[in-house]
Amino acid sequence: MNNSLKNVINLIEVLLFPSYCEICSSFLESFEEKVICNECWEKIIPYRGQICLKCGKAIKSSFYQPHYCQHCLTNVPTFSLHRSFGKYEGVLKDIILLFKFKRKRVLGKKLGYLAYETLKANPIFLKSEVIIPVPLYPKREKERGFNQCEIIAIELEKLTNIRFLKNVLIKIKDTPPQSVLDFKKRKNNVKGAFYVKNSLHIYKKNVLLIDDVYTSGSTIMECSKILKKAGAKEIFVLTLAQTV
Ligand SMILES: [Zn+2]
Ligand SMILES: [Zn+2]
Repeated sequence: MNNSLKNVINLIEVLLFPSYCEICSSFLESFEEKVICNECWEKIIPYRGQICLKCGKAIKSSFYQPHYCQHCLTNVPTFSLHRSFGKYEGVLKDIILLFKFKRKRVLGKKLGYLAYETLKANPIFLKSEVIIPVPLYPKREKERGFNQCEIIAIELEKLTNIRFLKNVLIKIKDTPPQSVLDFKKRKNNVKGAFYVKNSLHIYKKNVLLIDDVYTSGSTIMECSKILKKAGAKEIFVLTLAQTV
């Protein structure tokens, strides 16, 4: 199909089925705009402040040299590095919530690209040999219709050629959402919640673990621990957003 014909079809579609940005309510003029307008997407910016060398958490410190946060010094993480695209606030937070809880699966493509931007900014991630998403409990995944971390993992596989592995890390305990628990309870909540099936796929391999939001780090720590126990070499963690 030539471009001008494509444009006419797109225009007809936009006129017949008008849709509006779920964040700012403006009319979505272009056929490529899905759910969120381009202007809202452009408001999302990566975090550029001082962060912990290990977990990526924002550090408020007058100490100039890059260093670890207090939490990483006292509880050495089981992963090698974690980085997020940005802070879990504003438009980025709104988009992640739409993606997860309003079943706007179509947002996964652009969110996957944000994850890719983070990966490119931290070349050590390219040492990863397989991509594994944090799994949902099967009943929860069925309710939602998809696992949001898996959608990001699939997009990253397309952009990097690093192989995405499905059903290697699985969730065996239906835990309450981490967001309703305090820090201490989060750790216990995810203890024993995950299991590695077919550990041969990750044996002596560097794993890129994908989650949507990094809050206390408990989920990531637990997943990294059991992946390492199953024989994985190094765990690198990539998330879309991180609480401050
Ligand atoms: Zn908008
Ligand atoms: Zn840290």
